[in-house]
Amino acid sequence: MTRTLKNYIGGEWVASTSDKTTPVINPATCEVLAYVPEGTREDVDSAVQAASAAFPEWRATPMLSRAQYLYRLKGLFEGRFEELARIVVEENGKTRDEARGEVRRGIESIEYGMSVPALMRGYKMEDVSSGIDETAERQPIGVFAAITPFNFPLMVPLWFLPTAIATGNTYIIKPSPQTPISMDLLYEIMDELDLPEGVVNLVHGGKEASMAVMEHPGIAGVSFVGSTPIAKLVYEVCAKHGKRVQAQGGAKNYIAVMPDANMAASVTNIMGSSYGCAGQRCLAGSVVVAVGDAYEPLKAELLKRASALRVGNGLDESTQMGTVISESARERIESMIAAGVAEGAQPILDGRGKTVAGLEQGSWVGPTILDGVTPEMSVATDEIFGPVMSIIHVPDFDSAVDVINKSRFGNAASLFTSSGLAAREFKYRVNAGNIGINIGVAAATASFPFGGQKDSFFGDLHGQGLDSIEFFTDKKILIERWIEGRGERATLKLESEGRQEHVFPHTTINF
Ligand code: NAD
Repeated sequence: MTRTLKNYIGGEWVASTSDKTTPVINPATCEVLAYVPEGTREDVDSAVQAASAAFPEWRATPMLSRAQYLYRLKGLFEGRFEELARIVVEENGKTRDEARGEVRRGIESIEYGMSVPALMRGYKMEDVSSGIDETAERQPIGVFAAITPFNFPLMVPLWFLPTAIATGNTYIIKPSPQTPISMDLLYEIMDELDLPEGVVNLVHGGKEASMAVMEHPGIAGVSFVGSTPIAKLVYEVCAKHGKRVQAQGGAKNYIAVMPDANMAASVTNIMGSSYGCAGQRCLAGSVVVAVGDAYEPLKAELLKRASALRVGNGLDESTQMGTVISESARERIESMIAAGVAEGAQPILDGRGKTVAGLEQGSWVGPTILDGVTPEMSVATDEIFGPVMSIIHVPDFDSAVDVINKSRFGNAASLFTSSGLAAREFKYRVNAGNIGINIGVAAATASFPFGGQKDSFFGDLHGQGLDSIEFFTDKKILIERWIEGRGERATLKLESEGRQEHVFPHTTINF
């Protein structure tokens, strides 16, 4: 019998208080992999209580001991690498190699968490006034939570959890109900670590569980990754409830190609960017801006390569592009292609109505190229989140920058060129948080913050990198002056002796 997933709260697997469930469907085969409960406010509250109860002891656990759990987690992950990748393929529909890349990136985030002992430092200055020293210490804050999307079901939660717990906080993940099984496996693995009960918790569910996370007074901060409308909502609701929040939203990423670019290498990169994960990456290149004479050869080569992509079940090692996440995603993508065509775009490669032999029920969309796109068309302005590339032809570099900067999104933008000057101008002028130069997927590694501007990010501190140390800690300021107590002078030879009478005269700071 197909199982119903459980929550993981206080070190135990517990059934949701709701008996409503939705099926988790393999989008290639339509097999029901599991049922996911529609988690409730009570479920979230139990997780917050467990995480709050665990916090004082976890916070006092020596930093190096906290990091040691992550060393063990990395070892367990490496040992189950292929199993983790397989689950990601089955519930998400991407290819095995893409899933392996996802697991590897997840491990990188665990490794970054291991470096917290070297990063969670405060700073100190002696003699801010005579005989007075000042220190900023970093302290964990309490219970943090993540609300995460379907497209990287394993990697995205790991952007946050390792650093959050290594810095001494306790944690709750609310994964996407479309792809919850990767987290089920992560928690099964974490269960082997014998972490103190309540340090890590998992609550399944959709809107109700998300709202409960955003509104619960016991949660200090929320990391969100998902679409722009929900990112905005999360930012507003969390702010209203006095929480720290970082909300990474949707995207529309432009790739400009100059005539001086190495065309073969550029096309290989652009193919990976636009059709990797069937276009369901927040860093996917969605609009190709061909500059001047780059247009004809670029279009011809992209068409040739995209037409030859092998679409199929991700579990088949020869598959080059998998499915989109669901039937409703397929319908949305096809209707967005139709809207683009109605607005005047020419479908020189049309992935609508795609089927795969033996898997006719799967959620397939074939690689699509829309030519003759203009910046105002909906296919150039709105996130499609599918394997659809729009080509815009512009006369020069400045026009390319103008087109890109008109976008309301600012997640990523790339330039392909052999000119250092063009590269520098692009990086300087383009309003996007992740810039690729001759790189199609400008994905920040774990030790750098994941950029994002405009409608692609709401907050100030980004996920990953040093920003995450800031996000998961608060700075407490200690100002101290030690003066003689009764009898102290008799027993201590003070280093500062002789300076005691100058405690105040040379300063205007009034402590
Ligand atoms: P989504 O916004 O539909 O869902 C994300 C999370 O929010 C899920 O856990 C979901 O259960 C929850 N949610 C959905 N609707 C809600 C509501 N009305 N109220 C409260 N919670 C709600 O996103 P998705 O479809 O799972 O993921 C795809 C989107 O994520 C794309 O827009 C993509 O660009 C974006 N994304 C962004 C980044 C980034 O780093 N900027 C990374 C990955 C994905």
